[in-house]
Amino acid sequence: KKLNVCLVGLGNYSSVILAPALQMTKHCQLTGIVTGTPSKIPKWQKKYNIPDKNVYNYDTMRLIANNPDIDVIYIVVPTGLHAKYAIEAANTGKHVWCEKPMAKTEAECKSIIDACTKNKVKLSIGYRMQHEPNTQTVIKWANSKPYGKIKSLRAELGYNVGKPAKTWRLDSDLGGGAMYDLGVYPLNAARYTTGEEPISVIAQQMTTRPEIFTETDETTHFTLEFPSGVIAHCKTSLGKSMHELYVNCENGWYTLAPFSMYTGVKGKASDGKLLNQYIESQQAKQMDDDALAIINNTPVIVPGEDGIKDIRIVEAIYKSAKSGTKVNLL
Ligand code: NAD
Repeated sequence: KKLNVCLVGLGNYSSVILAPALQMTKHCQLTGIVTGTPSKIPKWQKKYNIPDKNVYNYDTMRLIANNPDIDVIYIVVPTGLHAKYAIEAANTGKHVWCEKPMAKTEAECKSIIDACTKNKVKLSIGYRMQHEPNTQTVIKWANSKPYGKIKSLRAELGYNVGKPAKTWRLDSDLGGGAMYDLGVYPLNAARYTTGEEPISVIAQQMTTRPEIFTETDETTHFTLEFPSGVIAHCKTSLGKSMHELYVNCENGWYTLAPFSMYTGVKGKASDGKLLNQYIESQQAKQMDDDALAIINNTPVIVPGEDGIKDIRIVEAIYKSAKSGTKVNLL
């Protein structure tokens, strides 16, 4: 059986990445869309053979409850709107996939989890890296420690976005800012690479282009302290390109660089071992893994309980950057 997926929000990620990736999956098919822009509808219907009865807008999406041709609702709208539409999706009784970062606040994340629990539906967060095979090797090494105990790590993700056109990514209410958009990758990586939860964080935020970043962070640096003593030095930026995870261990090191690009993740270790498994589409793998968890009723790889942990720390990072002091996470 293939699961029938409905995309909510037909912006860049849905149209350029997710819809094509759905065509590459084994266990999913794109059967529905929710959009607030009627002019997009004919093109999507034609390209993906979507019947009129599976086309909704944000006001009618609750009617998906009565549509047997949709099994999963995938939320791909600006981050500040994830909670609103993920809750609406859960209340239709369909399974929910929600893009990263899970939501703006810990309270919003909790409300998504509660809605999914109440409606007895599965919830997956779109952290594609945790479905990627080289990343999965690094995740396993948190336990098996082939290079000895981890002493410290560095996780950095940034792009220079140039002078962007008006976008929700510069709007604080809608969940913009480098930390929400990109910073959750180094943060999630620091957690999955160590297999631990941080006990404190200290952060700084800076911008070189205050005329563009009027209300959100252009660059955030944050240092996490873990119970075993590991220190994670993390950076994220919408003004500078950086793409590396580097793990410093007692008996060697390993690195993934780039560690989060769609086009592929590659790495190597101090003994010459290469991390170079190739998959054609991280998103197709992610959606197939999440579909199989629904079909077989098994746990999902990235549940809401993982997404909410990051957002709790993101809130602490903004608090630390504002106060200039370390924030205790215990
Ligand atoms: P985008 O701006 O290209 O698209 C956002 C869509 O939401 C647009 O179609 C827009 O019309 C719609 N929308 C609905 N209500 C809106 C409102 N009030 N204001 C603005 N837009 C509204 O953004 P995107 O890059 O497609 O990102 C969408 C989501 O996907 C975000 O949560 C982002 O973090 C996530 N994303 C994830 C990845 C990944 O690799 N996992 C990559 C890119 C984006």
